[in-house]
Amino acid sequence: MPVPAEADIVHNLARVRARIEAAARAAGRDPAGIRLLAVSKGIDSTRIRLAAQAGQRLFGENYVQEGAAKVEALADLPALEWHFIGPIQRNKTQLVASRFQWVHSLDRAVIAQRLGEQRDASEPMNVLIQVNVSGEASKSGVAPAQIEALADAVLAQPRLRLRGLMALPSPDAAAARLQFQAMADHFQALRRALPDQAIDTLSMGMSEDLEAAIMTGATVVRVGTAIFGPRARRPAHVADGRA
Ligand SMILES: *Cc1c(COP(=O)(O)O)cnc(C)c1O
Repeated sequence: MPVPAEADIVHNLARVRARIEAAARAAGRDPAGIRLLAVSKGIDSTRIRLAAQAGQRLFGENYVQEGAAKVEALADLPALEWHFIGPIQRNKTQLVASRFQWVHSLDRAVIAQRLGEQRDASEPMNVLIQVNVSGEASKSGVAPAQIEALADAVLAQPRLRLRGLMALPSPDAAAARLQFQAMADHFQALRRALPDQAIDTLSMGMSEDLEAAIMTGATVVRVGTAIFGPRARRPAHVADGRA
């Protein structure tokens, strides 16, 4: 598989930023209200550094050990903001709590409790609740009816800061549109239920469907392939399984 050269990453980032801006304008939104999270799973730290040199600040990782190693390798770039977006096993919460500023994939109260107890950085950890908006059994996330109970579990932890919701909708574009709209409704319901909290983040939309996500209110889009090119398939023996 061809490795994108520096010029490709710079060019791809500019294209993705232009897509975000065009989608925001089409939706009547301020482009500044949409943050680009570069999903760097499977991408080595040299290429992440190139993206950082091109002005990219937010990076997302799906696998705890792989992500933590890159956070350490790039610690000389303190402006970077690291987001954990993959499934979280109980026995890996310490690494997530100590290396990442954000978690998008909270889906169990026990994980909120562990992250809250283990977070010792000066800043609280920013947390999004992952919602299984497609209802597929294979997908992570809580059912919409469980959002508020999990929100309460996050609010019980002073070292966590609840910021909003995340979803990974169906690959089918028509189904995804309805799911983005459903997520926007769940997000507004959560804001109404917790008027004293700064619930300001709705994480949805990827390389293929970021325009539709922005149309329905996404405030963070998570983009991998359109920035770094196609990923190699992850060999099963290095995947972080779920405990
Ligand atoms: C891989 C991944 C992405 C990025 O997907 P692309 O299609 O490569 O843009 C976004 N979110 C999550 C949770 C992912 O695992």
